[in-house]
Amino acid sequence: MKVVVLGAGVVGVTTAYFLARDGHAVTVIDRQKQPGQETSYANGAQISACHAKPWAGPDTPLQALKWMFQPDAPLLFKPWRFDPPLWSWGLKFLANCTSRRARINMNRALRVSLYSRNVLQSLRQFTNIQYDQILQGILHIYRTADEFAQGRANAAQLADLGLPQDVLTPADCVRIEPALAHAARHDLVGGLMSPSDESGDAHKFSIEIGRLAESLGVTFRFGETVQRLERTGPRLTRVVTDNTDYAPDLAVLALGSFSPFLSRDLGIKLPVYPAKGYSISVAIDRPEAAPTVSITDETRYMVFSRIGNTMRVAGTAELAGWDTVLDPVRVAPLLENAKSLFPDASSYAALNPWCGLRPATPDSVPIIGATPLENLLLNTGHGTLGWTMACGSAQIIADLAAERQPEIDLEGLGLDRFG
Ligand SMILES: Cc1cc2nc3c(=O)[nH]c(=O)nc-3n(C[C@H](O)[C@H](O)[C@H](O)COP(=O)(O)OP(=O)(O)OC[C@H]3O[C@@H](n4cnc5c(N)ncnc54)[C@H](O)[C@@H]3O)c2cc1C
Repeated sequence: MKVVVLGAGVVGVTTAYFLARDGHAVTVIDRQKQPGQETSYANGAQISACHAKPWAGPDTPLQALKWMFQPDAPLLFKPWRFDPPLWSWGLKFLANCTSRRARINMNRALRVSLYSRNVLQSLRQFTNIQYDQILQGILHIYRTADEFAQGRANAAQLADLGLPQDVLTPADCVRIEPALAHAARHDLVGGLMSPSDESGDAHKFSIEIGRLAESLGVTFRFGETVQRLERTGPRLTRVVTDNTDYAPDLAVLALGSFSPFLSRDLGIKLPVYPAKGYSISVAIDRPEAAPTVSITDETRYMVFSRIGNTMRVAGTAELAGWDTVLDPVRVAPLLENAKSLFPDASSYAALNPWCGLRPATPDSVPIIGATPLENLLLNTGHGTLGWTMACGSAQIIADLAAERQPEIDLEGLGLDRFG
């Protein structure tokens, strides 16, 4: 079958690989020059099923209100901007801010994340793909007793749903990650360890899986922008780019935060809105003073991952449209926290700041699967967990294309859940 994959972020390029393994003739279109150049470029690097808790929860509206006027807040939301897509997304988000919805959404996100981690592990065995992976789990650290208590309650829910975590004292945290010794002396109250999670460079992975896809015959059309999609009745008939046209048997929409711009040509409204996040990537001067185990600072909403000789610090979310301008006010907390936790890890002379647009859905569950068009599949809306979920989502798309039963239940993952 002739398949066109729209988008070569980590989700699109991995999808192309799995489709090619089934023998399809796959073409990938992306406006950039390489795979993984936009949101998949410098993210937090965590394969973190442990982060399946959705953003929308009973406490989120009040917390977001408190943060609304704080320019360096971890989650910044400006509802007074004239932004109808944000208002529409925000109403759906609010509808998900109940305990019941949060639990359902966590279950769905965890289902995809755990499956995806398994698919990634098999892929590693099958291909020996290398992407600076570290298979030592994810350590969550807490600075206040209240947050630690909430973290333990969340861990109990995750354990019920199939992801066990260990409760740790500050001394346990330092035993697992000795570079935390400095922080533990000051303000750690405890930690949680998710031993089966991992970390690795999503960008490097995207390049490498792209190479593997190419070796299976996938054609990449880089530097080509998709301008519109056309339909005739229940079928997508043309993909129009700034260079040429395609008439695929099947298309997969994997354009991250930009997916809604193209789907609307087809009459498909996707509730995907960009949640802008930031990272810094600093050279490590003293390896023993920098973390090896990937860390989530649950008090500051930041993650730390080691990528070769680099320490990546990522976090913050701003719901303010599709702009990718770097705001120094939002970079500053990343640097400040890195220096305070790991003062001797780096000289922090060059920060390599970066920002990207997480393709967020109102329920923090991706949109994977069928559309009203018989030959268009969706693989988008992965929000904070696109790297974590890329392999599983890609395998699901390949299964659907081959009319095979996917290995997990797709209940609650499709566009139909939004009515
Ligand atoms: C600060 C930050 C930290 C994060 N940390 C983590 C983490 O630790 N773990 C995790 O799992 N996830 C993390 N994420 C989320 C993860 O990075 C994203 O979910 C993931 O990268 C989304 O991948 P994607 O392929 O859907 O989108 P993208 O990577 O954005 O890919 C979309 C592609 O579509 C192309 N495109 C768009 N429009 C067009 C067009 N019209 N024509 C042609 N091409 C087009 C773009 O060039 C791009 O290559 C983080 C995100 C951020 C911002």
